[in-house]
Amino acid sequence: MKCKKCKSTAAIELKRHNAAFCRSHYLDFFDHQVERAIRRQAMFSIQDKILVGVSGGKDSLSLWDYLLRKGYTTTGLHIHLGIGDYSSNSYAATTEFAEQRKAKLITVNLEESYGMTIPLLSNTIRRVPCSGCGLSKRYILNKEAYDRKFSVVAMGHNMDDEAATLLGNVLRWQVSSLARQSPALPSNGNNLISRVKPLYTMTEREVAANAILRGINYVEEDCPNSVGASSILYKEALDSIELRSPGTKHNFISSFLENVRPLMEVSQEDFELRECDNCGQSTTSRTCSFCRMWDQAREKANITIK
Ligand code: SF4
Ligand code: ZN
Ligand code: ZN
Repeated sequence: MKCKKCKSTAAIELKRHNAAFCRSHYLDFFDHQVERAIRRQAMFSIQDKILVGVSGGKDSLSLWDYLLRKGYTTTGLHIHLGIGDYSSNSYAATTEFAEQRKAKLITVNLEESYGMTIPLLSNTIRRVPCSGCGLSKRYILNKEAYDRKFSVVAMGHNMDDEAATLLGNVLRWQVSSLARQSPALPSNGNNLISRVKPLYTMTEREVAANAILRGINYVEEDCPNSVGASSILYKEALDSIELRSPGTKHNFISSFLENVRPLMEVSQEDFELRECDNCGQSTTSRTCSFCRMWDQAREKANITIK
């Protein structure tokens, strides 16, 4: 297998692009694809102050690495979830990455700031860990960005993540989630900060190749709670279709964004947002779902926070 650009031995083959690249030309290709996604979706400019959600995995570290190399003003935000060794290793990889690059990093420890780890939260409220965890991560990223005056929140979601979420939303016809599914959600001009996913055109394998070829030291282990999660089932289903028909995932997402989502923006306007009585963040009800969930959990477990 030869590199499409220089004909030297290829390091990676990309069937959906009908191409193969050597290390150096693959890294150029990766940067070019990410740059194109940022430009096409008008995600941000060099003037923006970007808060990057960093878990310590290949996606978020590849994204942060890209933004730092291109001279964007970034700060990483790591949320310590308290999920045993997985969280300790994720924290270690994130801090090592930030220290090596002298990059600014904020860490929010759930137990210290909100009174509980994810395992305790999910046991207390009898909800699957990913549901409380996903809600908490989205909320904290937005709240920290708003409180600290960042203009954009950037997340490392890749194409496989986006396609699996889209499939899950379609299978349940979750119209409100579909209306909000976008690689670039603008700010509401108030306390909802613009949220972008610059890696949404790159597959999990392509991002992993970038991380490995660049020598990024990321956490390889998966969160123990991801075993059996429906997102994994959707990814497997999409993988088997992609294998027979390369390009399916990309078409699934791009056709949705081009043909379906514009029709759904109308339904998004139906949601009248107000401020949460408790924390002031945007919500459709009196108290936001984050405050409701955490208040209920702390009350049940008899935990108070300062
Ligand atoms: Fe959180 Fe679930 Fe992801 Fe684990 S797999 S980090 S519990 S969302
Ligand atoms: Zn080459
Ligand atoms: Zn609230």
